Amino acid sequence: MIRVELPVLVFIYLFVFVAAVFSLWIAYEWHRVRREKETLRYRVQCTICASIFEDRTNALLPRCPRCGSLNERFRIGGL
Ligand SMILES: [Zn+2]
Repeated sequence: MIRVELPVLVFIYLFVFVAAVFSLWIAYEWHRVRREKETLRYRVQCTICASIFEDRTNALLPRCPRCGSLNERFRIGGL
């Protein structure tokens, strides 16, 4: 039987615990950033009336629902 000292066991336990929490956090962050990018991709701000709307079509120039003008697709906030 392999003898393992208690401090070593505690260390291993803590290490596994921290690793589990860390990987969960990484997975959560990754998921959150991905979802945020997904919503930002469809977000368009009108250059005429400055209203922000979502456009999930593949149109090159999405039409603003408020003033009806055509807008170029660009990223908001420089992300
Ligand atoms: Zn508009």
